[in-house]
Amino acid sequence: MLDRIGELRSEVEAAIAASQATGDLEEIRVRYLGRKAELTTILRGIADLDPAERGPVGKAGNEARGALEAQLARRREELEAGELGERLAGDRIDVTLPGSPVAPAGSLNLLMRTRREIEDVFTGLGYRVMEGPEVELDYYNFTALNHPPGHPARMAQDTFYVDPGSLAPGIEPPPGPEDVLLRTHTSPMQVRAMEAQPPPIFIVVPGRTYRSDPFDATHSPVFHQVEGLAVGEDITLADLKGTLDAFAQAIFGPERETRFRPGFFPFTEPSVEVDVSCFACGGSGRLQSGERDPLCKGAGWIEILGAGMVDPNVYGFVASHGYDPERVQGFAFGMGIERIALLKHGVPDLRKFFENDVRVLEQFR
Ligand SMILES: [Zn+2]
Repeated sequence: MLDRIGELRSEVEAAIAASQATGDLEEIRVRYLGRKAELTTILRGIADLDPAERGPVGKAGNEARGALEAQLARRREELEAGELGERLAGDRIDVTLPGSPVAPAGSLNLLMRTRREIEDVFTGLGYRVMEGPEVELDYYNFTALNHPPGHPARMAQDTFYVDPGSLAPGIEPPPGPEDVLLRTHTSPMQVRAMEAQPPPIFIVVPGRTYRSDPFDATHSPVFHQVEGLAVGEDITLADLKGTLDAFAQAIFGPERETRFRPGFFPFTEPSVEVDVSCFACGGSGRLQSGERDPLCKGAGWIEILGAGMVDPNVYGFVASHGYDPERVQGFAFGMGIERIALLKHGVPDLRKFFENDVRVLEQFR
């Protein structure tokens, strides 16, 4: 009996030493130390043995079981550590590495990119970038920009109106119509900026604007503008021309020229429509093939924005802030960011800017 216990013990020790996985150990435990195992049966049968045998067999059997259980536990720890290490090595995620496949970096919407390009040009010329409220008072959007109530130019800028009762407490609408509306241009910041700062002032105002327009290839009820304002002593129409030449060359290429045509805006006098020499045909109106250039329709010029000298009536609304039309003058201009982006990148439909189609976004990185 004692010999058999010794044999069993060696057999189990060899099996434990040869085991390669924790699953093997469980099989060994059930087979050699389980309820139906031979060693268990021997120990259970001790009472039936010869009294002289009981002591030595019980001692050897219990010792063997204890030693084997301890070896199983030790081997289990070893194997578990190895298995964990393997799993960690296999599953290792280095969060500092790019994903697989590499996730494409996002890109700015072309409108935002164009806005930043325009801002860069003007900050380079010494202008400050300002933003203003999209929900605006009639006074700033129209009245103080020389669109008195009933002025026909108001009709061309129909927009969305907001409940005046929703104004934050403490905001007292200035004189005139008390309408609260979504601004139709970023021009209201002309007056707000002049109220906040005496001359000289050089600002550009990018931002979202609204009109009750349809949503089609060339219109959107939400669109974007950059307004510019330069006021000081001795600022002339020639300065406006030089400034817009610098802008056009920075955005559309160093060969570009601008030309002024008479225009009308209530808050500038004189007002001009500004064209840039066509960058598709070089201003000739003809493509290399001899065909008429469809972009400028053969004219050689493309309209890009409106501008003019600030109307003295506008200074009347900020006279108490240091703007005396006898002493200061200046110019203002306003451009649509959509239009600049459409022209510069040949985008055929303005709606592409708002659909967030990844295929469109990916073209402009
Ligand atoms: Zn052309």
